[in-house]
Amino acid sequence: MQTQLADWIRGTPEGIEADSILRKCVHCGFCLATCPTYTLLGDELDSPRGRIYLMKQMLEGAPVTQRTQLHLDRCLTCRACETTCPSGVEYGRLVDIGRDLVEKKVARTPGERLRRWFLAHTLPSRGLFGLALGLGRAFRGLLPESLAKKIPDARPAGAWPAARHARRMLVLAGCVQPSMAPSINAAAARVLDRLGISLVEASGSTCCGGVTFHLNYQDDSLAYVKANIDAWWPHVEKGAEAIVITASGCGTMVAEYGHLLAADPAYADKAKRISELARDISQVVAAERGALAAATQGKPEEKIAFHSPCSLQHGLKIRGVVEPILADAGFRLAHVHDAHLCCGSAGTYSILQPELSHQLLENKVRNLMGGKPARIATANIGCLAHIQSGTPTPVRHWIELLDERLGQMGSG
Ligand code: SF4
Ligand code: SF4
Repeated sequence: MQTQLADWIRGTPEGIEADSILRKCVHCGFCLATCPTYTLLGDELDSPRGRIYLMKQMLEGAPVTQRTQLHLDRCLTCRACETTCPSGVEYGRLVDIGRDLVEKKVARTPGERLRRWFLAHTLPSRGLFGLALGLGRAFRGLLPESLAKKIPDARPAGAWPAARHARRMLVLAGCVQPSMAPSINAAAARVLDRLGISLVEASGSTCCGGVTFHLNYQDDSLAYVKANIDAWWPHVEKGAEAIVITASGCGTMVAEYGHLLAADPAYADKAKRISELARDISQVVAAERGALAAATQGKPEEKIAFHSPCSLQHGLKIRGVVEPILADAGFRLAHVHDAHLCCGSAGTYSILQPELSHQLLENKVRNLMGGKPARIATANIGCLAHIQSGTPTPVRHWIELLDERLGQMGSG
């Protein structure tokens, strides 16, 4: 694609990056078929190619309107278009740049600003979110059904093994996950403990910064990023092998730390190293699959459906890694139609774009339940809670299912 960037953006770091991404797009339109919003709305401006055009026009100096903002807001940032694109267009990076610029040029209504500010400042706070969740659970009966369904039941985390192995890895604590499902990181710690790896939560580790970043509070987000680097760095210097992330949405953010702080002289090298050390829990477990298969031999079968989050399959580009681990452990995987499509959770999307999100949820639940699974497994807390709001079938993180299976097999 030919570009002619306007003077105000040409030569800036964002302009240079956006220009190189735009130039890769050849307008082929292959990405349209796998874009969830285009599939639902059938409007070219709600497709990757249409949004790329809108961002190109803005960068070339055309007026930016609420229409531009609306079509960018409707994008789930699922990055299915990146998986489909034959030209390697890094749409996710482009839309991050585009949204930041639109936010500076188009004023939102006071109500919208307040809602976004509230989400950006409560969700990442473990204390505030934990309090809100506790109140929601206590007064669930008084809440509208649509909201009540989004509040997961409390489940005990179980024991976290003492750090006894020479091999150590750090785990991202996260923001909403410790309150919503503390069992996920504890299950990861138990599974890795059986594999000879101690999982440690560094004190001071916090939200990955993804929620604030995607709500366009990009400077606030960097404060979380730096806090995590500061918390992890002493452990990295002492030989921690990896930073393990059990929510794939957060994994995509930690993978970007190096890029986000590349121009910060105090943090650039550390951030790059942290991104290099970041591993989704599936990558860590897959590397130890031999030992795991031996530990789960003679297992009873259970049929499950696996929902691969967009952040796992399109963001981190981890595909076909979780399924064989679950199969080894005795889970029979049901076929899932349209497995590449988003469930509609997408960070705060289900709150900010409820109608589109709900349609995607209905489609996803129908497809997941098509094979009549006993349970649904996934790899991201946002997808887990969202899908659970649409079905009575239990939804779990796959590491919880594996932990449960290892528990059934006796201690190893
Ligand atoms: S990120 Fe997802 S919703 Fe956004 S344009 Fe790409 S495929 Fe469509
Ligand atoms: S598939 Fe890639 S190159 Fe083709 S229109 Fe979409 S983004 Fe552009």
